[in-house]
Amino acid sequence: MKLNVKFSSLYASARKMGIENFIDFSVNLNSIPIDIHVEPLSSPKGVEVPISAVSIDPNSGIFSYQGKHIILFIPDHSFNYEEALQNPKEKGNKFHLTECITLSKMRASGRFRRYFATTNTNGQFEIFNSSGERAEVPLSVCRNCLSQLNYKNYISNRQVFNEFTLAEFFKHYETKFGRIPENVGQDEGGYTEDWQEVSLTYRRSVSFRCEECSVNLYGFQYLLDAHHKNGVKQDNRPQNLKAVCKLCHSLEPEHEHMTISESYRSQIENLRRVQNIT
Ligand SMILES: [Zn+2]
Ligand SMILES: [Zn+2]
Ligand SMILES: [Zn+2]
Repeated sequence: MKLNVKFSSLYASARKMGIENFIDFSVNLNSIPIDIHVEPLSSPKGVEVPISAVSIDPNSGIFSYQGKHIILFIPDHSFNYEEALQNPKEKGNKFHLTECITLSKMRASGRFRRYFATTNTNGQFEIFNSSGERAEVPLSVCRNCLSQLNYKNYISNRQVFNEFTLAEFFKHYETKFGRIPENVGQDEGGYTEDWQEVSLTYRRSVSFRCEECSVNLYGFQYLLDAHHKNGVKQDNRPQNLKAVCKLCHSLEPEHEHMTISESYRSQIENLRRVQNIT
């Protein structure tokens, strides 16, 4: 953050007040570390987020980032900036409500786009082009997301698209978001304190690929679990671990209790399809 402060008008008014002698001083404000979040998550500008830090709320299927319900959009309109200014609803990038097929394909193909998260509900988004020009425009919701969530029965009532507002959408999910469904994932407790780290290190060592069905979950770490082969959750030796996608995990012996959200299931199935895994 850069601050420009001009003292000349202060000096001028001091002189009017009859003060003649100033102690000359200068302040280098750039040397003072000021950490202010100028753009909050709730602004039309949003906050750039690494896609791997965004997960899907298992109960409602919507995006979760740092415990908050968010939506994602791509402000970079380098290839369609002028069109987007003319007709943002039609030509602008759509904003996303969940991990839809558009996002899955984009991730799977390795085409990296910069995603921004926002909780802003007024429908305005700040977009930019490659020369750094910026504008606030109204964007449209992604139809694939509406479909995947079947938001307000969108699949049989396409009118939902035209009537969509973000304020209503956030309100709709308010009570569902963040409520942990029963029996999700593995039993609570019993894991070692460093389990999260051990699990991540192990999954990284197999490049986030399921050791059962081979689906590549790089960029979808939350869909890949580390499973204890002998069932002893404190036995974190690498030879006792196995990286499995949630679908394969639920097929391990004595894992009948594992429930998988529809959203997780369809994401893994989509990825298997895109990666030609049958
Ligand atoms: Zn979408
Ligand atoms: Zn698998
Ligand atoms: Zn397991």
